[in-house]
Amino acid sequence: MTKYIFITGGVVSSIGKGITAASIGQILKSRGLRVSIQKHDPYLNVDAGTMSPFQHGEAFVTEDGAETDLDLGHYERFIDINLTKDNSVTTGKIYNTVISKERNGDFLGKTVQIIPHITDEIKASIKRLNKPEQPPLDVIIVEIGGTIGDIEGLPFLEAIRQFRNDIGKENVLYIHVSFFPYLKTAREIKSKPTQHSVKELRGIGIQPDLLICRSQSRLTDSVKEKIALFCDIPKEGIIEAEDAVSIYEMPIILEEQGLGNFIIKMLRLPVQKPDLKEWREMVHRLYHPEQKAVVAIIAKYVRQKDAYLSVNEALIHAGIYHNCQIEIKKIDAELLSKGDLKKVLKGIQGILIPGGFGAKGVEGKVGAIEYARENKIPFMGICLGMQCALIEYARNVLKLSEANSVEFEPNTPHPIFQQLEILKNINGKREMIRLGSHSCHLTKGTLAYKIYQQDQVQERHRHRYVFDNQFLPKFEQAGIIFSGVNLEDNIIEVFEINNHPWFIGMQYHPEFKSRPNRPHPMFVSFLEAVMRKC
Ligand code: GLN
Repeated sequence: MTKYIFITGGVVSSIGKGITAASIGQILKSRGLRVSIQKHDPYLNVDAGTMSPFQHGEAFVTEDGAETDLDLGHYERFIDINLTKDNSVTTGKIYNTVISKERNGDFLGKTVQIIPHITDEIKASIKRLNKPEQPPLDVIIVEIGGTIGDIEGLPFLEAIRQFRNDIGKENVLYIHVSFFPYLKTAREIKSKPTQHSVKELRGIGIQPDLLICRSQSRLTDSVKEKIALFCDIPKEGIIEAEDAVSIYEMPIILEEQGLGNFIIKMLRLPVQKPDLKEWREMVHRLYHPEQKAVVAIIAKYVRQKDAYLSVNEALIHAGIYHNCQIEIKKIDAELLSKGDLKKVLKGIQGILIPGGFGAKGVEGKVGAIEYARENKIPFMGICLGMQCALIEYARNVLKLSEANSVEFEPNTPHPIFQQLEILKNINGKREMIRLGSHSCHLTKGTLAYKIYQQDQVQERHRHRYVFDNQFLPKFEQAGIIFSGVNLEDNIIEVFEINNHPWFIGMQYHPEFKSRPNRPHPMFVSFLEAVMRKC
């Protein structure tokens, strides 16, 4: 029978609930258990597709094309399985389903209410992670977004409260992740905010079994005793999660305090010894680099720490592989002018331009790509970055000085990127977008083929515009090698240039498939070229 772990957060947001959920997943997976993780986001957006990266960081794209909260990226990276749209639940999605059912007459005239109809749908969405065609999961971990006390989180908390009664005490565990501020003037770590947060949870009817304490320094025994007493949690259920140098150390920190065994005992799971050997070795390599490289990410949302999270992580993964510490320098494309490039890019060994939408900063990116191409700096262009690289080539090598994507300049005389035909055709009012996993055929003899060592790969996408194949012969004559193509829809996926240490653009997002123990080959190869420049 599947066991359930519900994770809530207290006191402040951004305390690392996602990393905690992912780490618990890893700890349980290391015991041979089948685990999945689901995120519940109490906002009204149906998915993260329309949300600004300024507010929520990147949208993480799954194999099946769901645009989700970035925590799903952490889950995939920590438990190393592909998640689906079912792993992401939002208030918008729940209401959408319930309201459609109501319109359909499914409730047979009943008054449709938050309890039980919304809470029932929340519970059903949790159970839906178990698929009839697959053996049941051993553990489903559910992270409830937001902080205890938020109005919008209440239906989710009510649903998980009911869950324990529905399926039995021994099958459900509640974990509360809370923050313990350090007060400089008192020279003390304070537990009162957490006491209040737990009080609030208990008011809703949830008694946490375990407390993960986020703090900047160690908790004293007396603080732990105080929390145990006031929050009614056994002392062994009070686990510290001090700030770590890397998020990847977190499973080890939690495991060493007995978290895994405590969960196993509470949920009466079959006992197996954890095998974190590979994970530990990976963290060891991360903490003992032999070299350092500086990579510039030139983009739009550079002030938001998480806007390019998966790209950051994918670079770090490749660094772990090469024993190389990566320093990432984020550069605001909007503030970049040609004259500054030499100064701004001094000391940088590689340039990466990630995905994005809209014209803002495009000219800065195009200028930086020209600089990378001419000065033989390794360059990786992802999605919008790839589009900008072909625009640069068209303008400066093909001499089509006004070449552009119709996304940035609808009236360009040389529209080398056009809106996808298949999308235009199925367009109602709303613009559609090419999402999720699609195949890419690689041409033998190209660098891309050498990197993947196979001629057919699947990669994740999130875009509306594609290279207009009318221009293909012109680009080929001018030295562009189109090394990857989607054969079903004849869409250019990868291009590269010769006579350069490393210059590849790809329409897809390799970063979504990179894992700390299985770095993406594109990033591994890019970093190899970057390191040669050190
Ligand atoms: N804006 C571009 C498009 O829609 C690129 C998208 C992206 O980089 N994710 O095609």
